[in-house]
Amino acid sequence: MRVLLNETQLLDGVRQLAAKIDEHYQGRPLTVVAVMTGSVVLFADLIRMLSMPLRVGVIQASSYRGGVKAGELAVDTDMLLDLQGRDVLLVDDIFDTGRTLERLTKIVQDRGAQSVQSAMLLRKQRTHDVPIRPDFVAFEIPDEFVVGYGLDYRDMYRNLPYLAILDEDEIARTSETHAAAKPIDPQAV
Ligand code: 5GP
Ligand code: MG
Ligand code: MG
Repeated sequence: MRVLLNETQLLDGVRQLAAKIDEHYQGRPLTVVAVMTGSVVLFADLIRMLSMPLRVGVIQASSYRGGVKAGELAVDTDMLLDLQGRDVLLVDDIFDTGRTLERLTKIVQDRGAQSVQSAMLLRKQRTHDVPIRPDFVAFEIPDEFVVGYGLDYRDMYRNLPYLAILDEDEIARTSETHAAAKPIDPQAV
């Protein structure tokens, strides 16, 4: 594991992200929606740095069904707040292909939001699959698989206070351990 961003760098980045968001909304009330589960650590830090009146909601999206390759996107809106006529800010961990943001933006628009913007901790330097782009980004990172500060590999590592690159040999080793412990059921993934 190689540390890409340490605790201090992450907090500085989130502080700058919050400043840009504050500047954009100019004190207008905001509904912030955390994209679970990857945004959990960012979200806790970010909302405490924002100064406008806030409502807080969550939505769940998962495309990494236990690995590093993106699978089909599953979205759960059961815990989403009423968004009718609201200014909404989606908060997510990382902008990769962009398919998650495209899908969630449409869901928020369909719920009658007055505006939808997005804030991401990370944006991968790669070709994105969709035309949509995040409005606020804290860090641009190389196209590598990263974990920590909310981001997982097979639901592990979210609690690391830093962001690290998980190397291919580590991914392979973890996969073997997992495979040995629990055979993957194709019905369940
Ligand atoms: P997108 O739909 O933009 O391809 O993917 C967004 C989601 O994929 C992120 O919210 C995150 O859950 C997952 N993801 C993409 N890249 C990485 C990565 O490098 N590390 C981890 N842990 N998750 C990633
Ligand atoms: Mg995610
Ligand atoms: Mg994940």
